[in-house]
Amino acid sequence: MRQEKTSVLIVGGGPVGLTLAMDLAWRGIDSIVAETRYPGEPPSVKCNHVSARTMETFRRLGLAQKVRDTGLPADYPNDASYRTTSTGIELARIPIPARNERYTATGGPDTWWPTPEPPHRINQTFLEPVMFAHAAAMPGVRILNRTVIEDFSQGDHNVTATARDLDSGETYVIEAKYLAGCDGSRSMVRRKIGATLSGTPVIQRVQSTCIRAPQLLDMLPGKKAWMYLSLNPRRCGTVIAIDGKETWLIHNHLYEGEPEFDSIDRDWAIRTILGVPDDFQYEVVSKEDWTGRRLVADRFRDRRAFIAGDAAHLWIPYAGYGMNAGIADAMDLSWMLAAVLRGWAPASLLDAYERERQPITEQVSKFAMEMALNNMRQRKATPPEVELPGPEGDAVRARVGKEAYDLNVHQYCCGGLNFGYFYAQSPVIAYDDGEHPTYTMYDFTPSTVPGCRAPHFFLPDGRSLYDLLGPDYSLLRFDKAVDVDGLVQAAAHRGVPLTVVDLPAESAAELYPHKLALIRPDQHIAWRGDSGPSDPLSLIDLIRGAAVAAARQAA
Ligand SMILES: Cc1cc2nc3c(=O)[nH]c(=O)nc-3n(C[C@H](O)[C@H](O)[C@H](O)COP(=O)(O)OP(=O)(O)OC[C@H]3O[C@@H](n4cnc5c(N)ncnc54)[C@H](O)[C@@H]3O)c2cc1C
Repeated sequence: MRQEKTSVLIVGGGPVGLTLAMDLAWRGIDSIVAETRYPGEPPSVKCNHVSARTMETFRRLGLAQKVRDTGLPADYPNDASYRTTSTGIELARIPIPARNERYTATGGPDTWWPTPEPPHRINQTFLEPVMFAHAAAMPGVRILNRTVIEDFSQGDHNVTATARDLDSGETYVIEAKYLAGCDGSRSMVRRKIGATLSGTPVIQRVQSTCIRAPQLLDMLPGKKAWMYLSLNPRRCGTVIAIDGKETWLIHNHLYEGEPEFDSIDRDWAIRTILGVPDDFQYEVVSKEDWTGRRLVADRFRDRRAFIAGDAAHLWIPYAGYGMNAGIADAMDLSWMLAAVLRGWAPASLLDAYERERQPITEQVSKFAMEMALNNMRQRKATPPEVELPGPEGDAVRARVGKEAYDLNVHQYCCGGLNFGYFYAQSPVIAYDDGEHPTYTMYDFTPSTVPGCRAPHFFLPDGRSLYDLLGPDYSLLRFDKAVDVDGLVQAAAHRGVPLTVVDLPAESAAELYPHKLALIRPDQHIAWRGDSGPSDPLSLIDLIRGAAVAAARQAA
């Protein structure tokens, strides 16, 4: 029987699996990605928001510019516009720069973020083929398309999976050191590792339709928008520009008492949300009905098998964060797997993955659900007077618009979700007595408290801090007089790759109050201090997961 071998078998080549493969390859680790779809075959038309944090990841992987250059036309505004109908009166507008001014725009609610890579609006149908081509060209990544992983078993040293070629029907074996289930919401891997999802299985059903309507763009009054959100007493809904020309995704958010996707006449709902007459012509490209949920797996790992992305968590796509959180899972898992496979960390490092990611995905899922519930309440409460002509209608529109803006600026400009989360219960972070700053979906305080994302800043010469970091651990030193030899030697002694980055003290004194900050391969702070640690070897053993193994043995 045919037999393939790899270090990491990734089940599923969606955005999460492809990111994991790319980052592993970037760290020198080979992988096989098994994916049932054809090479480069686009997924269904779901996600439209690539977060700044994901774009930072893409920047490191050499992919950010390719992604940035794809999607809506360069000058197409990324604004969210609240209106009575898509073609009706505007109630509020959340300004988001078009991609041609993404790096230079100032003053809007999502331009204040300290990042080298602001967010990007692009539909998943355009994003995934770009990711696929980039991943497929990386040495160390093998993508087996038209391949389903049907089952796997675990031994002490490896995982053995059964693969089937969907075209030839051939069944064969793939042997790997580790397996990552990035196989989406119906994950076989989740089932096999005995994980169960818990939370809220149905928050809301959405009747969703992708249409082609070339004449719509010219019927939309005023400055164009990426997203049109209709608020009227007849039918509220969301219309998303997919190609900035003729393709639109229309979500009809069903109310309680509308239990089936087809409870409401689809054509009527589309026309009411758009505010177009009976003779308006459109073509249905696909029906994309979906159920908004809040579900998180109770475990993310069983021995050598892990789950990430939709396999591990599913939530209603408010703030557009499902894929982005899955990519953050992949970034956490990737460096840990690479460290173990390259031999500078014991397998116990991998315990940190679930301890770090599971609580974060719980938090994000709750943020998304709360946002969804607030929006559901707002839609339901839309007063009929919102469509009245004259001053009375104007006053109602001003109120409804303000409420819509105040509520939703949090999800469309979600700086907190991007940068505010921190790992508070990790066994491989050296916590001190600093308190993690709280964050909301919108807001956050950059911080060097261990566990937080390393605050980003640009150097006076315009370089990004993140471009200076090494691929593995980096030690930022803001005062060259501070002796770091002990830490450097301890890292070398254990084979932990460490790059010392010397920076002028004045470059970020407010953001980095300590003279030293140790940054992990995933850009989270592992430790900080004003002088080298008193016991450098213990610190190195903690951050590479050896202390976890020692504690386990002692117990
Ligand atoms: C309407 C809507 C809007 C959304 N908007 C956003 C947004 O703006 N931003 C955002 O971040 N997220 C958004 N999401 C969520 C986002 O689409 C998902 O979170 C994302 O696709 C998850 O990626 P994944 O790689 O984990 O899983 P998937 O994209 O589901 O990929 C899994 C892959 O695994 C393959 N596969 C499955 N089983 C096997 C097997 N046994 N063997 C081989 N291959 C297998 C499948 O073919 C698939 O390609 C939205 C979702 C919806 C429904």
